[in-house]
Amino acid sequence: MRLGAIEGGGTKFIVGIGDENGTIIERVSFPTTTPKETMQKCVDYFKDKNIEAIGFGCFGPIDPDKSSQTYGYVTTTPKPGWANYNVIGDLKKAFPQIPIGFDTDVNGACLGEVYFGSAKGLDSAVYFTIGTGIGGGAYVEGQLLHGLLHPEMGHMKLIVREDDHYKGKCPFHSTCFEGLAAGPAIEERWGISAKELDINHPAWDLEAYYIGQALANIVLVLSPKKIILGGGVMHQSHLFPMIQKYMNQFLEGYIQKKELADPNYIVWPKLGDNAGLCGSLALAKQVLMMK
Ligand code: ADP
Ligand code: ZN
Repeated sequence: MRLGAIEGGGTKFIVGIGDENGTIIERVSFPTTTPKETMQKCVDYFKDKNIEAIGFGCFGPIDPDKSSQTYGYVTTTPKPGWANYNVIGDLKKAFPQIPIGFDTDVNGACLGEVYFGSAKGLDSAVYFTIGTGIGGGAYVEGQLLHGLLHPEMGHMKLIVREDDHYKGKCPFHSTCFEGLAAGPAIEERWGISAKELDINHPAWDLEAYYIGQALANIVLVLSPKKIILGGGVMHQSHLFPMIQKYMNQFLEGYIQKKELADPNYIVWPKLGDNAGLCGSLALAKQVLMMK
């Protein structure tokens, strides 16, 4: 089975071909420019590729509701030119016979881990990317979660730690999860690139405090069987046990499940830095299975 995948990011797009097992056969990437030009590059790439479906995990907010008039649109992004743009319009026109699976990049990545990665066989998982921004996707009782729009877990409000006087970076909520803990917030707070922070720097304990707090909220709301944390910041692998410690501290022993203390409960994506593109492959596979 040949499947097409688009990982649509705010700074770059990655397109590729893979199969139903999550194996990527080829991939290319290009910078995100105007929507017209960027989507045309996707169309050009898939021409003559003989694919059976396309999966498109897109930065958002998007409209993933098939019954909506604006299904397939990027909705309210501040990214110039992209707000209210029908990102699947040109794809549909160019490939009218090919089904397209469209969802948020993080829902895609979550499905990728469920189909091919660390959450294989589970009916419940949550995926977060902690990078330039923070986004979360959820798979709940065998389905990706959408609801009114789609979850925006990266913007949940968090309690600011007493010793943290940083004002927060989110233009909407200042001190939401993303405003406190995404890469740019770390860099602005400490005045140094996150990549260059020593592993003993106090930045990491604070970072784990915020991520752990957010995950405690997620455990209380969605009760996931596995939590996957990807994105640039999570390359700091020493964060994982610290995050788990804080998550449990915030839960205060209220939820008695041994999994919460298992080192395999909060994990780096098994698909690694391919989590996004494999996630889009998963969206393509899903749309074929639903046909
Ligand atoms: P994006 O979110 O744009 O898709 P990334 O997931 O790579 O991209 O996230 C980029 C952010 O992650 C930047 O703010 C960067 O500082 C941070 N980052 C990238 N690599 C590391 C690293 N090894 N350690 C800590 N932070 C990192
Ligand atoms: Zn916010």
